[in-house]
Amino acid sequence: MGRLFAALAVLAASLAPIAPSSPAGAPADLVFRHGAVYTVDNARSWAEAVAVSGGRIVFVGTDAAAAQWIGPQTKVVDLSGKMLLPAFHDSHVHPVSGGMEALECDLHGLASTDAVLDTIRSYAWSHPDAAWIRGGGWDLTLFPEGSPSRLALDRVVPDRPALLAASDGHSSWANSKALAIAGVTKATPDPPHGRIERDASGQPSGTLREEAVHLVSRHLPPRTAAEHEAGLRRGLEVASGFGLTSLEEADASAADLAAYAALDARGALTARVSASIGVHTDEGLGDLPRLRDLRAKYRSKRLHADAVKIFADGVIETRTAAVLEPYLGYGDDRGKTNLEPAAFRALAAALDKDGFQIHVHAIGDRAVRDTLDALEFAQKANGVRDSRHHVAHLELIDPADIPRFRRLGVVANFQPFWANGDEYITKMTEPELGPARSQWIYPIASVEAAGGITAFGSDWSVSSMNPLDGIEVAITHRDPSTGPGSAWLPKEQITLPDAIAGYTIRGAYLDFTEKETGSIEVGKAADLVVLDRNLFDVPPSQIHEAKVLWTLLEGKEVYRAKGF
Ligand SMILES: [Zn+2]
Repeated sequence: MGRLFAALAVLAASLAPIAPSSPAGAPADLVFRHGAVYTVDNARSWAEAVAVSGGRIVFVGTDAAAAQWIGPQTKVVDLSGKMLLPAFHDSHVHPVSGGMEALECDLHGLASTDAVLDTIRSYAWSHPDAAWIRGGGWDLTLFPEGSPSRLALDRVVPDRPALLAASDGHSSWANSKALAIAGVTKATPDPPHGRIERDASGQPSGTLREEAVHLVSRHLPPRTAAEHEAGLRRGLEVASGFGLTSLEEADASAADLAAYAALDARGALTARVSASIGVHTDEGLGDLPRLRDLRAKYRSKRLHADAVKIFADGVIETRTAAVLEPYLGYGDDRGKTNLEPAAFRALAAALDKDGFQIHVHAIGDRAVRDTLDALEFAQKANGVRDSRHHVAHLELIDPADIPRFRRLGVVANFQPFWANGDEYITKMTEPELGPARSQWIYPIASVEAAGGITAFGSDWSVSSMNPLDGIEVAITHRDPSTGPGSAWLPKEQITLPDAIAGYTIRGAYLDFTEKETGSIEVGKAADLVVLDRNLFDVPPSQIHEAKVLWTLLEGKEVYRAKGF
């Protein structure tokens, strides 16, 4: 309990009002008025007007009181009822790898196998010099068992190797040339943490799961620094356009960090970035010196790498997630964890002792339990500190583990957009779990009701980076493209204020920046977003239709919609 109260006290202290500067001083640089300003302060207050000076918020209040901040040089923005919110935080996103993938053969959002194959064919046609056809974003649900065939890919890319990642990043699709280059044959055994899907005769069918992807991907030409930077610029453009100014990079490599630093040095890093460095799990504690070096090397006002990312397991759809009870219809198969519990505990304790924030990918209920066990072990070994370790995804949590988030002060980092009752859930997840366990898929409301702190993210490019998509689904539990109707798993729906907080102040809490950003309060940075409508005035099923008009980071424009 003590841990939780400490966490809440930090949160409350950070939200205490700060005395406004005297309006007798210089007028503000920028004044918003006639707005629907939802501040996300501790009282969840509303205001009409906000003044900004030197990149900071200097006034929040009524239109009448804002008048004294307006001088001849002040830019006045009349919102005429439009919404002003604190700019959004994405607590789990892959801006560099997602951006690079988007610039390659991009298969996201395609609704049929024909569309996927046509896209690959025309990409290959228009990139005759590419040694490999690479990219990704195909949906598992388009193919039986989530397993596309190398033969289909051979027909559209017959002349070169091709390797295309699934949208979730846990499977890849290879053609015959790629498998031949990698030497993957009938005789190749599955690697320890991966699976080579095979046809009836035992030949590799073309779909590779988890670590088996590396059998082929290690033959890809390494992406250059310029490609990393171009990918990051693309990722940042998408983020700014969706009103995001704080990003938790979910799996940074050294090359990714170099790209962030390169843009930062040019003044082009248009978001605050907190990077989780991907740990080389197999090296265990041996990886610590590298992690420490990267943390020390990349530290600026906009960028830090104080967190470490651990993949505890895979995904449920392909049974690579670690579950407590077997998957239905697959014998004794309970999936696999990437770390034995003892190794996980040792790694967590060492990282925690070293002051790292720990960020874990955990999907299955066994992986979630192992993670909480490891974080509890670290807390017992090193004592309670303000660590804000967090677990991302949390697709299935055993109800016995739900109160542990509050008890251990571990932040539950959900991707609310996934709780939409789509085919990933209805066709590939619920049948493998059965009805009893399926009650505990993405239990956001249950964790919050048990006093756990949640924060939200997109996992882009796995799914849409738009926080409004996530906010809508957190409330409706429906795919936004399907309009209003009955909710999937209604007991885990949350409210609009809670959903907004998860993308703002609680994201800031997760980033240790809640004194600087995450709400509209005097003294904080002017990280702000203007929306074309007040989200509280539209039906929940239309929240995703709201448009971002203007995004400001520390008072500076990072995105402006045409016509605003
Ligand atoms: Zn991720």
